[in-house]
This record gives sequence, structure tokens and C-alpha cells, in this order.
Amino acid sequence: MSPASKQHVADISLARSEKRAVCAGNGLTSGKDSKTDGRVPLIGLDRESFESTLVRLGEPSFRAKQLWHWLYYQGARTFGEMTTLPRALRTRLSDSCNIDRPSVSRLQLSEDGARKWLIQFSDGQEVECVHIPEEDRGALCMSSQVGCTLTCNFCYTGTQKLVRNLDSGEIINQFLIARDTIGEWPSPKNGRMISNIVMMGMGEPLYNFDNVARALQIIMDGEGIALSRRRITLSTAGVIPFIQRCGRELGVNLAVSLHAVNDEIRNQLVPINKKYPIKELLDSCRRYPSGRNSRRITFEYVMLKGVNDSDADARALVRLLEGIPAKVNLIPFNAWPGAPYECSSNNRMHSFADIVNNGGYSAPIRVPRGRDILAACGQLKSESERARRRRT
Ligand code: SAH
Repeated sequence: MSPASKQHVADISLARSEKRAVCAGNGLTSGKDSKTDGRVPLIGLDRESFESTLVRLGEPSFRAKQLWHWLYYQGARTFGEMTTLPRALRTRLSDSCNIDRPSVSRLQLSEDGARKWLIQFSDGQEVECVHIPEEDRGALCMSSQVGCTLTCNFCYTGTQKLVRNLDSGEIINQFLIARDTIGEWPSPKNGRMISNIVMMGMGEPLYNFDNVARALQIIMDGEGIALSRRRITLSTAGVIPFIQRCGRELGVNLAVSLHAVNDEIRNQLVPINKKYPIKELLDSCRRYPSGRNSRRITFEYVMLKGVNDSDADARALVRLLEGIPAKVNLIPFNAWPGAPYECSSNNRMHSFADIVNNGGYSAPIRVPRGRDILAACGQLKSESERARRRRT
């Protein structure tokens, strides 16, 4: 059954006519058609390139600061609304620069308040992005790639092959679109409902490090969205060569998808383990810069019945984490059509959690969110891909 067909799901599909002009990010790496209309895409340019682009267009450099503020502090979607800029300049910018958002093909609202956007870029490729609200804050789960190369066999996204990396503009635009929907402009100082970002959507962010880094730097910039690095978590299956760079250059929180305590099982669940096995991965975590600042590394552990959930596994996990300031997120397995696993029983998960807790690590069992709209961990996949599969 398609979960989206449930009655309680508000499915706000947008009519074609309602979709605004498609565009994409800056096209810096993907060589897509975002530049075909001849306008320079501005969203996703780092500050330096942003300024030099405007200077190249003949504008004095203070204009860059004003424009940045309109785009990332005020959330302006058109040049027309930038009232502090002279009218002639606004017209010139509209002719030469592109700040259009990509289009939203579908917006779904879960009965638990989670929201999922299906976002389509100018080349027709799509990703999903999910907002998980709490009482007075909320996390936005963003994607870094269309599809994924990792082929973790418990993950729905893993069954979709990699199509391409997102560019930095496409990554930031997920955030901008979520803010448009939730109405969180201009950038509030406190009380944000999009208070955190988790790079835990589709794709492996450390396989697209440059674009992810550029996007996060822009999101952290104090004169725009100004989200603190402490409120950003990047999740990786363990691409060791980029873990240190992530700590050094971004200083965001690190989450590691561990899921198993020995290489034999992890090789099956997370095939990248064959290249970057557990011991090396944990050594790299020990050296992660934020670890030394007493910020803990999160280890994600999906609970798979009879596969990785025994008491002995829990004890081995405690031993493995020794010396790492860590917290363990136990994720109940989220099923998807044709998934080869089942979720561990409640009793099993609690017994596992108790052992890890007694070993000195906080080990909450995560309450799955947005399951009814396939928005929970490991359930993201672009709708177009699902539709293709349904037809075959
Ligand atoms: N590639 C990165 C980012 C994806 S994060 C990474 O592997 O960390 C998504 C998180 O959800 C990962 O921890 C992933 O292992 C987990 N996950 C994937 N499929 C899942 C499923 N079906 N149920 C629960 N968690 C899942």
C-alpha cells in the first residue's frame, strides 16, 4: 500500500501551473542546464565568488553585502522586493542573475507534523527533504545527492542508484524552500522552528564534500541565515578521508552510521566498510576535532531483528566506543516495500539500550517520525524513481 494514500495524510500536490519557473543552483560542478537562460545563478556562490560576480557585473562591492542580506536574511525570492536597491539596479539584476527557487513537485504532511518536500531541479532530477518539528524547535533533514552509491541493503535510498551530486545551490535551496513553507523569514534570532540541520537525507554527504561544505558555510554565515555549526549534524557511513576535513573546515557535529560491531556483519549492511573498516573508522572518530571539545559523536545503530541486536552485540558496542565521547542513537528499522529485514522487538531494543546505557553511553531509542509519508530514516527516494519502478 502506498502510505500516501492514507486518509490522514494531507497531500498537497502542486498543480503544474502553480510551479514557479524551474531553476537550479549554481551549476558549478554538475554542468547542468541552470545557465541556459544566460542568467548567473547566485544562490550557492560562496561569499567571495558572490562579491566578484557582482563586481564583474559592474556593481560596487557593498552591493554584495546588501544582496546577501536580502537573499539569506530576508529570504527574498525576487529582485523586485529588494526595496533598498535602486529600481534600475533591480531591473538589471533580474536580467542578469537568477535567484529562482527550484520547484516543489509535492509537499506532504504527516499526522505527526513531519513535512516532506519533493523538490525538482531544472534537469528534472528530484530529491526529498524532511522537517521534523518538536514542541519549540525542529530539524531539517537535507539531501546531498540524487540517489546514493553506498548500496546499504537496509536503506530505501540505497536501492536507487546514484544519479548525480547536488550542487551547493541545490543543497541550500532545500533550506530556503522549507523556510518559505514554514514562514520563517526574516531569519529569527530565537525560537526557530527550523533550528537544526541534519545532513541525513538522500546521499552520502562526504562523497560530495565540496558542495556540502560550501552550502553549509553559507548557511552558517553570520550575515544571513546564521545557523550555528553546533546545530548542524553531518551523517556519514564512514568516508574516512573526509572525516577530518569535515571537522577542521566545518566544525559541525558528526554522526556515524555504524549499525554493526564486527566487520563481517557491517560489510553486508554497509558495503563501504570493506574499504573503510570499523577499526580505522573509529580511530578517525577519536581524532575528530569536535570530540576534543567535549562535543559528542553520535553513532547511529539501526535495530535489525536477529542481525545486530543481541546483548552480546550491545556489550561489544560499549567496548568499541571506549575513549570516544559518544552517544548512540538506536534507530528502529523503518520498513519499506520489499525490505529484507524486520525491526527488532521492543523488548530487544530496550535490553540493548540498557546495556549501552550501563556502559556509560546515552542510547535513546529514536521515535520514528513521518513513517506514514515515507519520510523516516532510510525511506527517502525520489517519487519519480518510485513511479518508474511501479511501471516496470
Ligand atoms: N549516507 C549517510 C547519510 C544518510 S543518513 C549515512 O549513511 O550516514 C540516514 C540514516 O538513516 C543513516 O544512519 C542510515 O543508516 C539510516 N537508515 C537507512 N535506512 C534505514 C531504515 N530503513 N531504517 C532506519 N534507519 C535507516
